[in-house]
Formats: sequence, C-alpha cells, structure tokens
Amino acid sequence: MSSKNVVLFGPPGAGKGTQAAKLKEYLDVPHISTGDMFRDNIKNQTELGKTAQSYSSQGKLVPDEVTIAMVKDRLGRDDVKDGFLLDGFPRSVPQAEALEKILAELSTQLDHVINIAVDDEEVRSRLAKRASIEGRADDADPAIIQNRIDTYKSQSEPCLDYYRPKNNVRDIDGIGSVDEIFVRIKKVFE
Ligand code: AMP
Repeated sequence: MSSKNVVLFGPPGAGKGTQAAKLKEYLDVPHISTGDMFRDNIKNQTELGKTAQSYSSQGKLVPDEVTIAMVKDRLGRDDVKDGFLLDGFPRSVPQAEALEKILAELSTQLDHVINIAVDDEEVRSRLAKRASIEGRADDADPAIIQNRIDTYKSQSEPCLDYYRPKNNVRDIDGIGSVDEIFVRIKKVFE
C-alpha cells in the first residue's frame, strides 16, 4: 500500500467522520479528529475544553495556536510513525503551514489530501438532519450552521489552494451512499 499520512478534508457535514471510521480500519492507522479531541475536553471540562467550547458553540474555529499545539502533541506520539488519518485538521492556511513544519521536524511529509466535495445545499440539509440524530449543540441552530459554512468558505477552503500546487489533493465526489464514497476513497491508495 502507498504511504499513509493522510488528511481528510471537506466542509462540515461532508461525511469526514463516517469515512474516517472506515478508512482508519482499512489503512490501520490512528484516526486523529480535532473535533473529537475538543469534544472530549469539553465533556471533561478541562482548561482546553473551556477555551474550545467558547468558540465551537458559536460555530467558530478554535484559535490556531491552541489547535496547532494540540495536534503537534498528538503527532509526537509513537503510534503515528506508520501513518495517520487527520480529520478536521488543517482548517486554516496557518494550520496547513504548521502541519508541514511539524511533519518536516518528524522527517516525514503529507502523502494525500482527500477532499470530500459536497455542495452548500447538501451540507445544510445534512447538518440539520444530523442535529436531530446526534444532538450536537453546534448542529442545532441554523445561525450556527451558517457560521460553520461561512467559516469553512473563508478560512478552511483556502487550504485547498495551498495544497493543490503540491499535487497531493484527491477530489472525491461526496454524494452517494457511505459505501459508494468509501470505494472512491480507497482508489486513492491503489
Ligand atoms: P468538527 O467535529 O470537526 O466539525 O469540529 C467541531 C468544532 O471543533 C469546530 O466547529 C471548531 O469549533 C472546532 N475545531 C475542530 N477542528 C478544528 C480545527 N482544525 N481548527 C479550529 N477549530 C477546530
């Protein structure tokens, strides 16, 4: 199998978490979800959690320096030496730049940026649906959903322009069944 340092990218509601759960099994690498890490910290009301909550509850990004420090710490652990699946990071160009630096310090690099592409209307309807199923606070309020979409457009989507010249972006059509989309993602590693 080809190299396994992977970023799973896409708008909120693209299905990153669902696909990551399958892909981490397939690649046999740790799944590193910054959203899950923040939610764990929020649940346990750690200092990091309290900071994260003040942003995530409004659909805003947690500041780069906080998020980057958390990811740097996680990527310093031994279990990522044969690969990792980053889900929800990077979400800003400074985060993408920081990731490149962190990986260079670890004498490695990013192999694939898998971009799950889903249009705005689909994102909106999926987030509304997820709110009723998972009860996530940041999915419940249409104004917060709009904030998350706007944040994605203004801060996260430019990461693709950062990565495209490096030729490691793979665009995946995110419309279809979970299994159909997973088949498309697996092709990246064939
Ligand atoms: P997610 O589950 O990936 O949608 O993340 C939930 C929330 O956690 C986001 O709306 C942000 O507030 C925060 N978050 C997750 N990942 C990041 C990141 N890379 N940078 C900043 N904030 C993040």
